[in-house]
Amino acid sequence: MTGVQLNNVIKRYGDVQVIHGIDLTIEDGEFCVFVGPSGCGKSTLLRMVAGLEETTEGSMTIGERDVTRMDPAQRGVAMVFQTYALYPHMTVEQNMGFGLKMNGHPKAEIDKKVGEATRILKLEDYLKRKPAALSGGQRQRVSIGRAIVRGPEVFLFDEPLSNLDAELRVEMRVEIARLHKEIGATMIYVTHDQVEAMTLADKIVVLRAGVIEQVGSPMDLYRDPDNKFVAGFIGSPAMNFLSGTVTADGVKVPSLQDTLKIKLQAADIGRDVVVGLRPEHLVLDPKGKTHTIDLTESLGGVSYAYLLSETGEKLVVEERGDERSTMGDTVGLRFDTARVYLFDAETELRIR
Ligand code: ADP
Ligand code: MG
Repeated sequence: MTGVQLNNVIKRYGDVQVIHGIDLTIEDGEFCVFVGPSGCGKSTLLRMVAGLEETTEGSMTIGERDVTRMDPAQRGVAMVFQTYALYPHMTVEQNMGFGLKMNGHPKAEIDKKVGEATRILKLEDYLKRKPAALSGGQRQRVSIGRAIVRGPEVFLFDEPLSNLDAELRVEMRVEIARLHKEIGATMIYVTHDQVEAMTLADKIVVLRAGVIEQVGSPMDLYRDPDNKFVAGFIGSPAMNFLSGTVTADGVKVPSLQDTLKIKLQAADIGRDVVVGLRPEHLVLDPKGKTHTIDLTESLGGVSYAYLLSETGEKLVVEERGDERSTMGDTVGLRFDTARVYLFDAETELRIR
């Protein structure tokens, strides 16, 4: 069993604390994604698991072993970086086998492992080439191959697709998902891209400023976010947020010129709230008069209408089907109140 467990893990650089006591269990064979905005501590946390950064306080285990103070080489992990870090003077084959060769493994064993990685990553045609003669995607495959060859218990990826163009990123994303299925090893994957997190993860860990905001499956986080940050981070385009107030009749939302029939506790009356509505849950009502369409973006199968309310609040609405709105139209909004998310305006915590 090679799950990963973090127990109240803390990282400080001098006086500056960047990781604030993380508790996390990653199951054996799970694909776990750390996601969050730039600077939130994703790489630091991953590098602590790898042993490339010292853990200031707390402990971590891989399988049954306490690895907190262990050397990187002893931990049974292999890391894939955003920059491929291949040796330019070595061929693909030599790059993949180099780590084992340095550790004195016999040639037959190296050949067998390199052959296996080559098959998994479909690198047969490139084995004799040097990195300069490869595309970005092929280079990244070689660096993943190098990790596979080491036979780690846990794979660690730090934004491995960020240097690739959009099309290749989608292709490699599918390959990494397939790799996980085939190998079945525990994987921890860092990204700032919520689409990568949604499509790859069994478990997503949303981080902000060195703290876990929420842990769950992609659809759990999408359907049931604990706070405004997670609600706004997961889902694309992002959830719309409107200001509102709880009244005896429901939630009054000035920008919608409406009071939503949502039952809250009497104690909540007068409380300021943020009303969350996903673009895909809104329908434009051509008979309404509350919003103007500021801009429309058509991607073909789907369009996004950018709306401005009379009160000056902005909103995005997703449109599919044959009828699409046009810029300058005056419209209203329809939606199911069961789709409304409410957050406390001050704490930003979900009101359920
Ligand atoms: P992410 O990968 O989520 O973009 P990082 O883990 O790289 O974020 O960084 C988290 C925080 O730690 C940032 O505020 C960054 O400035 C800080 N940090 C990273 N490395 C060091 C370091 N060697 N010394 C001081 N602060 C650091
Ligand atoms: Mg990073």
